[in-house]
Amino acid sequence: MVYNQFIDGALTTDSKRESWVNYDPSNNQPLGEVCQANDEDIEAAINSSEKAFQIWKNKTGAERGRVLVKAADILRSRLEQIALLETHDVGKPISESLAVDVSSAADALEYFGGMAAGIHGEFFDLKNAFGYTRREPLGICAGIGAWNYPIQIAAWKAAPALACGNCMIFKPSELTPATALELAKAFMEAGAPPGLFNVVQGDGRVGKMLVDHPRIAKISLTGSVATGKKIFSAAATELKHVTLELGGKSPLIIFEDADLNNAVSAAMLANFYTQGEVCSNGTRVFVHRKIFDSFLKQLKERTERIRLGEPTDPETQMGAVISKVHLEKIIRFIDSGKSSGATLLTGGFKPEKDFKGRNISSGNFLAPAIFTNCDDSMEICREEIFGPVLSILAFDTEEEVIERANDTLFGLSAGVFTNDIKRGHRVIHQLHAGTCWINNYNITPIELPFGGYKQSGIGRENSLAAIQHYTQLKSVYVELGNVESPY
Ligand code: NAD
Repeated sequence: MVYNQFIDGALTTDSKRESWVNYDPSNNQPLGEVCQANDEDIEAAINSSEKAFQIWKNKTGAERGRVLVKAADILRSRLEQIALLETHDVGKPISESLAVDVSSAADALEYFGGMAAGIHGEFFDLKNAFGYTRREPLGICAGIGAWNYPIQIAAWKAAPALACGNCMIFKPSELTPATALELAKAFMEAGAPPGLFNVVQGDGRVGKMLVDHPRIAKISLTGSVATGKKIFSAAATELKHVTLELGGKSPLIIFEDADLNNAVSAAMLANFYTQGEVCSNGTRVFVHRKIFDSFLKQLKERTERIRLGEPTDPETQMGAVISKVHLEKIIRFIDSGKSSGATLLTGGFKPEKDFKGRNISSGNFLAPAIFTNCDDSMEICREEIFGPVLSILAFDTEEEVIERANDTLFGLSAGVFTNDIKRGHRVIHQLHAGTCWINNYNITPIELPFGGYKQSGIGRENSLAAIQHYTQLKSVYVELGNVESPY
C-alpha cells in the first residue's frame, strides 16, 4: 500500500518522493509507505484548487449542500471499511471507530450540507439608502490534522469550508495518512469538482509549505500548542485567517452530591477513550474530599476491568497508543509522577497479554493509569500527557476548586458533576474553558461550538460559529438618493 497525494480528483502515482513506513500501533507491523508531498505536488494542488474554486464559489448553497450530504451518505455506506482503516492507522478500538469517528465525520457533512443554502448576509435599512452584507468564501483553505481522530478532523474542517464555498487542501498527520483519502474519494463520487478537496501527505515541513504559501487564504490546524504558535506567527506575515484547535489539561470537578456512578463513568470517558489521546480530556479530576475514597474505590475497580487489547476485536475497549515514541513519552510522564511523590494506584505498565490472553507485547499498549496523592504543581498535573493517565486531586470548597481548576495555561474544556442545578451553572460560568459539560464529559455534538480559551486555541469548529471562520463579510451600501457633496 502506498499513501500518495490526492490531487485534482485522483490519487497521484509518481512515487519518487521521500517516503516512510506507516505502522499499525497494535503490532508495529508495516501498513504501507507514505509519500511526502514535494513542491511540485503543492503547486499542482494549489492550481487544481483554484480551478475548483472558480466552479464551486458560483454554485448555489443548495447545490453545494447536496454534494456534502451525498458524501455523508457515501461515508456511512462504507462505515465498516473506513472504521477498520482508522483502527489500523490509529490503534483505537473498532467499537469506537464504528460508533464515533466515521459517524461524526458524516454528521459534520450532513449538518453543514443542510446549512449551506441558509448561509446569508444581513439587510440594513438606512437613511435614503440601504445596506447589506454578504458572507463570501475566503478561497483556498489549508486543513492540517492531528493523528487521534483523522477522518473526524478532516471532515470537521472540510464540511464548513466547502459549505461556505471554499476549497480545501488537507494534510493529515504523517502518522495517519489513510482516511483523509477516503473522504477525498467520497467528495469526488458525490459530484464535487476535481480539486475541491485535495490531500497532500507529509510531516510538518509540508504543513509549513501550505502555511507559507501566498495563495492559501486560511489555515485550520488541529494539533499541539507548540505547532499552533508556529503557525500563528507564520500566518501573521500575510495576516492569514487562522483557526487553532490545540491541546489541553482540562479539569473535571466532582462535587459531593454528584451521582457517583455517572461521575466515575465520566472520569473514565474523560481519560481512557481513544487510549487517553483526546485533546479535551479531563485529566485533572478534582473530587470533593467527602466522597474521595468511595469515588477512588469505584474508579480503580472499573478501570482495572477495562478490556485492553487487540483493537479489531469488537469487545475491546482500549487499544494501542499511536507510536513507540509516544508510548515512551507517556511512560516518562508516569515516571515523573512517581518520582515527584504521587502514588500510582493502578496501571501505567506495558502489558504482555490482552484481555483474552493474546500476546500484545509487540504493540504500543499501556494499562490505564490512575495517580493519587497528586499535587497541582506536579508535571503530571500541569502538562498535557495525551495518554491514559488520570490524576485525581481532592478539594474542600467551591471557591478553592475553581481557582485551582483555572490555574493552567490551557483552556480547552471543563466538566462539573453536581445535582445542584445552581451550583452547576455557577461553577461552569467561572471556569476559563471554551467547551464545557455539566453532568457528562467529552460529548461533542456537531450543533455545539467546539474550541478553546487561552493557549488551547483560537476560533471554533462545528455549529453556526464555524461559518464565521470560513467566510469574510462584505458590507455593501446602496444609495437611493443623490450624492451629497461639499464640493
Ligand atoms: P502536532 O502539533 O505535532 O502536529 C499536528 C499537525 O501539524 C501534523 O499534521 C503535523 O505534521 C503538522 N505540523 C507540525 N509542525 C508544523 C509546522 N511548523 N507548520 C505546519 N504544520 C505543522 O500534534 P499531534 O501530535 O499530531 O497531535 C496531538 C496534539 O493535537 C495534542 O496536543 C492534542 O491536544 C491536539 N489536538 C487538539 C484537538 C482540538 O480539537 N483542540 C483535537 C485533537 C488533537
